[in-house]
Amino acid sequence: MTAPGEILHTGAADYPGLDNWRELPLTQQPDWRGHPDFDSSYEELSANPPLVFAGEVDKLKRRLAKVANGEAFLLQGGDCAETFDGVTADKISAKVKTILQMAVVLTYGASLPVVKMGRMAGQYAKPRSSDMETRGDVTLPSFRGEIVNGFDFTPESRIPDPKRMVEAYHKSAATLNLVRAFTEGGFADLRAVQQWNKGFMENPAHARYEQIAGEIDRAVRFMEACGAEFDGLKRTEFYAAHEALLLDYERALTRIDSRTGKPYVTSGHFVWIGERTRDLDGAHVDYLSRVQNPLGVKLGPSTTPETALALIDKLDPEREPGRLTFISRMGAANIREKLPPLVEAVRDSGAKVVWVTDPMHGNTITAKNGYKTRRFDDVMDEVRGFFEVHQAAGTYPGGLHVEMTGDDVAECLGGSDVIDESAFDARYESLVDPRLNHKQSLEMAFLVAEALTQVK
Ligand code: PEP
Ligand code: MN
Repeated sequence: MTAPGEILHTGAADYPGLDNWRELPLTQQPDWRGHPDFDSSYEELSANPPLVFAGEVDKLKRRLAKVANGEAFLLQGGDCAETFDGVTADKISAKVKTILQMAVVLTYGASLPVVKMGRMAGQYAKPRSSDMETRGDVTLPSFRGEIVNGFDFTPESRIPDPKRMVEAYHKSAATLNLVRAFTEGGFADLRAVQQWNKGFMENPAHARYEQIAGEIDRAVRFMEACGAEFDGLKRTEFYAAHEALLLDYERALTRIDSRTGKPYVTSGHFVWIGERTRDLDGAHVDYLSRVQNPLGVKLGPSTTPETALALIDKLDPEREPGRLTFISRMGAANIREKLPPLVEAVRDSGAKVVWVTDPMHGNTITAKNGYKTRRFDDVMDEVRGFFEVHQAAGTYPGGLHVEMTGDDVAECLGGSDVIDESAFDARYESLVDPRLNHKQSLEMAFLVAEALTQVK
């Protein structure tokens, strides 16, 4: 018997060093180890089947090695914070559809394969700037994502509940099941995706993308006329990614792979360390240094070249191709100044990482009516800055990391089919950060494709 809150070492229990993180500074976690349901929830998760198979994780690493070499492009997209209620067929299919549509446009623009990845099936934990939230004279724990507590501002909802980890696991399993069915069962057929893109083009606001859309259409029709019926036309690989923030969840879902004898986080294929938890001596970096998955690290404007190099030494000591992705999130106003020293230092060190731009998190503003928002033009300006910096450094701009949804929400400002603040009251749904809606997401893909075709 263990006392409530006593740490359980189930699953991968005696793998050397795996539990060192427990002795290190650990931030952004709920205080729930003494909760009466903590041990049983942790044990249940530890006994559950993995959500992903280590062989798939290795395959993704090989795909990302291609990105690191400039032979493929990476698209990561999805919600800032998934919600349990958002696990419906409609919402999941709309999101997958949008990512597939963006990927087709980017494949054409880059003339390269696109590795597709959702911030999906596990993106439930959120870092917060303060532990507590005060409204009027009531102070309660901050909302940390539905894997920890509820969004409603009541004590019942805001008190962290470890059983939510088990629910997040089941919601992730349901999501992944549908994503796998969609992407392998015919839904992802390139010809169908191209038909959906025609819907986007019917909107007169998108007329400026006609040329590129027409070229893609002809390319698809050409393949069809040739009788091309290869696998890559009919199905696609789609990977699940999330921020590995909640270490109780990640540790409980870590398994030793029977083929290699090494630990894998099996909560998703790719996990990243956020801007707030990438402390070199902290628990997150230590824990993730010990698992085999491909990893991302968010790099904000305060990152120094020394920190970037130290992160590489810690997380990718073997310099394994595809292991490490740096996701820069500098802000449009900073990227042209702050990114070059990092890119140059990594280039000069000889290390090879995947460089991805997150043009969302450095561009958050508060709208006049109080909503957290982002301007489409700022987002695109950061993307352009990212390409410029890599072109100047002779390095490869490997991909995009965006907060987006397949639905017709109004959360980010602008786009050709303009969203303004007056739409927020009716169509703002995100619990945390604002996402590009379906049209804004596709528009970004067309703009990036245009930029890529100009570079070639
Ligand atoms: C996020 O990706 O939602 C996030 C919190 O990002 P960052 O760690 O870059 O702030
Ligand atoms: Mn976010």
